Amino acid sequence: MTKKIMVVDDEKDIVDIVASFLEGEGYTVHSALGGRECIESIKEVNPELLLMDVMMPDMNGWEVLRDLKNMGVLEYIKVIMLTVVKEPKQEYADLSPYVLDYITKPFNKKDLLKRVTRLM
Ligand SMILES: [Mg+2]
Repeated sequence: MTKKIMVVDDEKDIVDIVASFLEGEGYTVHSALGGRECIESIKEVNPELLLMDVMMPDMNGWEVLRDLKNMGVLEYIKVIMLTVVKEPKQEYADLSPYVLDYITKPFNKKDLLKRVTRLM
């Protein structure tokens, strides 16, 4: 069975680049172009790993994690955040244990793959 990753970012270019790259490495990738789309499809997709941008206009990545936690699905998903800031604001501090790694934008593909592979 191929391993499933969900990529969430408000920038379609980034989603497309990351998705096609990881698909080329043998992963099954589902994309969401924002927080709401992620929340709506997460149960159906049931990804092993969530690769999510923090800065998104509809909901930020931490707000998405908050909702996933309330839905009871966060404990089953590994999370990598795409961000320049590695520590969440105080209001999201309780969510930081769920984030297993951070990738700084702009990222290179080799580093991304190394971090993804390590968790899967
Ligand atoms: Mg963004």
